[in-house]
Amino acid sequence: MMKRSQLLSVLVGGVFCFAVMSLYRMLELMQGAELQQSQEKPAGQVDEDLSRLQKKIDRLERLLYDNNRLVATLRDSLLLRKASWEKERQGGRVNLSLVSAHSQADTLPGCRLAAEIKDGTKLLDVYDLLPFDNLNGGAWKQGFEISYHDNEWDEQPLEVVLVPHSHNDPGWLKTFDGYYQDQTRHILDNMLTKLSEDARRKMIWAEISYFSKWWAELDEQKRAMVRRLLKAGQLELVTGGWVMADEANSHYYALLDQLMEGHLWMQRHLGVQPSSGWAIDPFGHSPSMTYLLKGAGLQNMVIQRVHYAVKKHFAQQRTLEFLWRQNWDSSPRSDITCHMMPFYSYDVPHTCGPNPAVCCQFDFHRLPGRRVVCPWRTAPQPITEQNVKERAQLLLDQYRQKSRLFSSPVLLVPLGDDFRFMEASEWDVQFENYQKLFDYFDQHPELHVKARFGTLSDYFLALHKRLSAAGTTLPAVRGDFFTYADRDDHYWSGYFTSRPFYKRLDRTLEATLRATEILFSLTLAEMRRFHGDRRLVADFPARDHFLSLTAGRRNLALFQHHDAVTGTARDPVVVDYGTRLFLSILNLRKVLQSSAHWLLLLDKSQYHHNQSKPFLQMADSISAQDALPQKTLLMLSDEPRSLVVFNPTEQRRSAVISVVVDSPDARVVDAETGQPMAAQISAVWAEPSRVSTEAFQLDFVAELPPLSLVVYHVTKSSVGSTPRAQYTFSRHGNPTEVKSEHFQVSHLAEADIPLSLSNKHIQIWSSSETGLLQKLRLQSGLVRQIQVQFLWYGTTSKHDKSGAYLFLPGPEGAQLYSSSEPPLVRVSRGPIFSDITSCYKHFTHRVRLYHLEGHAGRSLEISNMVDIRSEVNRELVMRLISDVTNGNRFFSDLNGFQMQQRRTLAKLPLQANFYPMSSAAFVQDSTSRLSLLSAQSQAVASLRPGELEVVLDRRLQQDDNRGLGQGVTDNKLTSSLYELLLEDRRGGAQEVGGASVEHLSLLAHITSLCLCHPPVTMVTPSNSQLPKLRPFLPLGTSLPCDVHLLNLRTLEDTQEADTPSQEVALLLHRKGFDCSSAPQPALQCTWSKDEEVNLDDLFSPLQFRSVRRSGLTLLREHDEPDSVGQQTHITRLQPMEISAFRVELE
Ligand SMILES: [Zn+2]
Repeated sequence: MMKRSQLLSVLVGGVFCFAVMSLYRMLELMQGAELQQSQEKPAGQVDEDLSRLQKKIDRLERLLYDNNRLVATLRDSLLLRKASWEKERQGGRVNLSLVSAHSQADTLPGCRLAAEIKDGTKLLDVYDLLPFDNLNGGAWKQGFEISYHDNEWDEQPLEVVLVPHSHNDPGWLKTFDGYYQDQTRHILDNMLTKLSEDARRKMIWAEISYFSKWWAELDEQKRAMVRRLLKAGQLELVTGGWVMADEANSHYYALLDQLMEGHLWMQRHLGVQPSSGWAIDPFGHSPSMTYLLKGAGLQNMVIQRVHYAVKKHFAQQRTLEFLWRQNWDSSPRSDITCHMMPFYSYDVPHTCGPNPAVCCQFDFHRLPGRRVVCPWRTAPQPITEQNVKERAQLLLDQYRQKSRLFSSPVLLVPLGDDFRFMEASEWDVQFENYQKLFDYFDQHPELHVKARFGTLSDYFLALHKRLSAAGTTLPAVRGDFFTYADRDDHYWSGYFTSRPFYKRLDRTLEATLRATEILFSLTLAEMRRFHGDRRLVADFPARDHFLSLTAGRRNLALFQHHDAVTGTARDPVVVDYGTRLFLSILNLRKVLQSSAHWLLLLDKSQYHHNQSKPFLQMADSISAQDALPQKTLLMLSDEPRSLVVFNPTEQRRSAVISVVVDSPDARVVDAETGQPMAAQISAVWAEPSRVSTEAFQLDFVAELPPLSLVVYHVTKSSVGSTPRAQYTFSRHGNPTEVKSEHFQVSHLAEADIPLSLSNKHIQIWSSSETGLLQKLRLQSGLVRQIQVQFLWYGTTSKHDKSGAYLFLPGPEGAQLYSSSEPPLVRVSRGPIFSDITSCYKHFTHRVRLYHLEGHAGRSLEISNMVDIRSEVNRELVMRLISDVTNGNRFFSDLNGFQMQQRRTLAKLPLQANFYPMSSAAFVQDSTSRLSLLSAQSQAVASLRPGELEVVLDRRLQQDDNRGLGQGVTDNKLTSSLYELLLEDRRGGAQEVGGASVEHLSLLAHITSLCLCHPPVTMVTPSNSQLPKLRPFLPLGTSLPCDVHLLNLRTLEDTQEADTPSQEVALLLHRKGFDCSSAPQPALQCTWSKDEEVNLDDLFSPLQFRSVRRSGLTLLREHDEPDSVGQQTHITRLQPMEISAFRVELE
């Protein structure tokens, strides 16, 4: 008997074939008939006939389009059914209902239930264990006295690898260009000379942004010298990222992109790839970064800024070197060898050994008469024949003490600091004095020490050799190193929020870049196919666009630097970064516009690129680097105005598109089918209670296939034909008079009844006094108290106060936000969405429900507009107080890549319990999970059970003594956006809070995807003669909703620089997801059942000419064997893993 799934696919296939065949047959018949007629008819009638034929073709085209949509929907539902039948078969069940949420939970194929992994040390457990007593450890203040016996190295001599480095921030106190001109280029110039003088000298370099800039200025002879030094192993490029990225606020898209940008640059210009990571200054460390490094082919890494108490614990256990393993990985596949530096800093006083007063004497740049001094009062001495014995023994004592903290007799000793090795003389004093000490060690074998200059890889090579000789393996460690404290209660949780305006701008550029990358790659593929000879369209500025893309990648990459996205640079430097982000967004938008232009034209010969007068414009504009986007006012008439909407997600979605028009009556139709779209007109508020009379907000529901460009027509319509929002105002004690000629406005009659909004999935209740949320009820019947509050934190009255890095609140904690005047509360109700807006002096808070069927209707959109410029030393937070009984456990994401459990600990100060949140946080109990999904990075905490709070903005008047030398007072009008999602876990729940590894649900993943990647809306200019446009629908069906198209990134041509190649980096991320909260009704998407997928099927009708799996940064050396010529492109996507492919699109 034929299986039902097969039967259905045969059926659907049959319907499809029949439909296509009939269409072609019809077209053929028509053409034949018309041509025959035209031969017999007079010329005048031919025109008429031709126009009739044209109309018929148009109609056919519309039919075909409808057909495509129908087939796509059929395919979606077929896949869904197939998956459920497979599940049924595997589970041996019958009568398993598709929409049964709770029976789905335990059998969802590919579902990653919360897992308790036993092996390895978990940092969460270390936190439970540590007393955080901050005892004085003596010379090593945060550690302990280290003792050793002189004979400990008799068997196995101590092997010291001294690694010279110079930490070059790509912007901090000076801009990137400022540092480059004043310092960095001199450092690199001298490196070339000074390393060439002596083959024993070594140096490592991390920041490719600087290195590539310097390289561009070198002549061929110098470039050859650089290559020689690399080949000889004297110079090593470590990490190879564009910057040394922040690991708290950066999203994994940008983290990977900056790594790719650096690695591909290295491959192209130097033919080398990095093998060791070097992250000595980022303020805390994330395993997401580790995952990317391992995926990019790195084997080893060094980290430095770890909580001093954790360092001490690891030192006591002699586990400062460990295998860093992913929380979710039960195999050692993701392991990377990690070296944690034991002491306070990466400067010389804190790297040679535990005693900074001694180590400082071995920083010869601080010799008397030079620019820097030792604050411990004992100055370095030049090494002479007279003092070499005493100096060597003093240094060896430090080396030996430090070595006691490690399990092998190989010792890593970094030699450097910020912007070091600038002058030629600095190279001489460091290398010459150390060489004398090394020579002395060599001449005295009884000391059992070998010391040399080395690179990072020299060190790790020696380490691995010793470890394997001894048969030792390093212990595995899971978890992350947040929140960092460098001393006392100085927790670096302030920078999780500092400069929130730019943290949001960062994500705007990221979304714009990703959308542009994908559309540009698809455009080039279409052009090559269109021509048949794989050439591009002559008039299309592919090279200029590729340069804009490259600049966009590099500006986003630069902003991932640990003083950029962190908000810890000086004001002018912040403006420099902001300008780069802003200009990149503008330039990328041009690429989007002209790509969409070509793709949409029915008659491609009409394509003409006009830089100054683009065919498409954005529906909004950004006027400056510190301004929020403003919607452009569109003039409507009876002639249709075209709106083009790009869906940058790989999912079919219903999205509400919002534009501002000059008429309260407007009609939107799908340009292809003529079908009217559901629309709503809302007021544009010039002030909280003053309606604009010139501008109106038009919202309509767009049905967007994955990665599609869809065209809509907007016209002015007859008066009163478009549903309008209705408004209710409420202000306690002080009623506001609001007048509007276009909208129905009423005032709340009974002040004490809560406001309520609902759609098919959710009902909410809010206070009529404040407008703030109080309660939420799901369609399933689950009810949760969820109160929204706003609060202020101040800073402590002690000497050390909050600043750009540090959060040092006063002992009183947060104070409830209060204002002398009650807020104006505005309720808006309409057919597409309803919302409640609370207007306070320092912020406008809006909660909105969309009346949509799909996932967009299942969460609550929250947006805040914050302005705290009038305040002094204050931080504003939004707190959610729920009755979810999560105890002290909550979850926050790491870089949008994975979820990490957090435990709120009373033994730690308040500021230590704040963690970074790039995209999500949740609290949960056995019946429900409350997730806050976020479109920007900021600090999050759950200080009491049921609570979640995020820091919205901070204004701090003083420096916090970490070198910045200023406060944070450049606040702006700042927006933040979230989705609040309550999920019912009854029946599907696992052990409450016991699991250490959790994932977002599929619904949360898809909600987050749509939040972070909004549709891009473009408009055609008014009163222009419009050529015929056709929607662009590259994918037949959505990707499974656990598979994220991270990027489709056109690579640079290997021969011709700054030119797009035919090769594209395809990056897919298969997400792990939670199964205990299966949504009801089921989601309209499929999920991966198997690890094996056929890329041709996944992206159909797109076809791949070639597919090669590669490393995450697409280095050719990491390519897996060629699969060109293979009939199918079957590959494996494992849960949680990112897979990278080098592909050519057919
Ligand atoms: Zn730095």
